[in-house]
Amino acid sequence: MPDVFADLVGQDEAVVDLRRAAAAAAAVLRAGAADRAPALLTAGAAETTGAAGPAGAAAPGGMDPSAGMTHAWIFTGPPGSGRSVAARAFAAALQCVHGTGCGECPGCHTTMGGTHADVRLVVPEGLSISVNEMRALVLRAASTPSGGRWQVVVIEDADRLTEAAGNALLKAIEEPPPRTVFLLCAPSTHPDDISVTIRSRCRVVPLRQPPADAVAEVLVRRDGIAPDVARWAAAAAQGHVGRARRLARDPEARKRREAVLAVPRRLTGVGAAFDAASALIEAAEAEAEASVTAADATERAALETALGAGGTGRGAAGAIRGAAGQLKELEKRQKSRATRAQRDALDRALVDLAGFYRDALTMALRAPVAPVHTDTAALAGAGAQKWDAEGSLRRLEAVLACRAAIETNVKPRIAVEAMMLALWKG
Ligand SMILES: [Zn+2]
Repeated sequence: MPDVFADLVGQDEAVVDLRRAAAAAAAVLRAGAADRAPALLTAGAAETTGAAGPAGAAAPGGMDPSAGMTHAWIFTGPPGSGRSVAARAFAAALQCVHGTGCGECPGCHTTMGGTHADVRLVVPEGLSISVNEMRALVLRAASTPSGGRWQVVVIEDADRLTEAAGNALLKAIEEPPPRTVFLLCAPSTHPDDISVTIRSRCRVVPLRQPPADAVAEVLVRRDGIAPDVARWAAAAAQGHVGRARRLARDPEARKRREAVLAVPRRLTGVGAAFDAASALIEAAEAEAEASVTAADATERAALETALGAGGTGRGAAGAIRGAAGQLKELEKRQKSRATRAQRDALDRALVDLAGFYRDALTMALRAPVAPVHTDTAALAGAGAQKWDAEGSLRRLEAVLACRAAIETNVKPRIAVEAMMLALWKG
């Protein structure tokens, strides 16, 4: 059984840091068990004072057991680099009875399986994490760990915190309960993604885009995918591990990708450009709907059962009024999640399209790099001849500008139509 860091692809430096921190955390617990004031340094103090911390004097051999460990972390890196994989693995290493993340003990097993009582995972489904969710979480995180080790809170997509939720989290990070560790995941430490004050209280673990051969290796080893398929999928997914696995396994995902890569061929005029824009938007909507519909129905049925639909008698009128409010709240959440799913699906399509024009650009420049999309390399080569480097670059920039516009809340259809016209005209 491989240890908990085995699936963290191509992140050797980060893994070294996290192993060291887990060992330091285990040392803090041992010092605590021997009744020597266990305390974690805050990130700021750890960075400026090094090993001279509050627990330093009491530790054996003058070593500070908490050096290398701190109570708040941010995992950053491009999509698919494994931010949440790294955070979960580190959570497991903190709960590991050996303090290493062995992958075999109950602490590792339950954390990786998502059932550890002292590990709370926040996965925002909508566009943002609400203040109510965050307050409830912070409150529970302050309790004593039932397993005797750490209370760990993993927040995926911490860049989707609302401002109020961010403030609730900041308060907890500023005055951390002694045994609570916060693990945040965000694309970057840019102030748009994570507030400067939260950033200043956290240690940052930067992850890089894993190289395609490392992604292919893990698909073969962990998922049993044939080596040639794994190599193709790893290249086509541009370092995104989850996307590579989907492309290798899911024929629907492959079909959607092929439809996107057919776009450059279809841009023969203004009408065709608008048609292509509609097709891209509708495909993203259909993909998103398929991914959320089942969950929506299950949630609604569960809530209706919980609210005792159809009840009569005293207090029923009040209960119905309350129920209507809760159903409305659920609908709001589901709508937000559907919007997010649509944007994610559209963004995946745009990344594929960007890969195509990037291939054309590198071919026009005769750069000695492998193409992203081996299956459309000939088409990209033809584009490179027709457009030259400059025209290829303009088209690549049009795709990237479309992504940026949607990220800043331009209506997707408007942004995609503008992009298609730019791709056609060049
Ligand atoms: Zn373990």
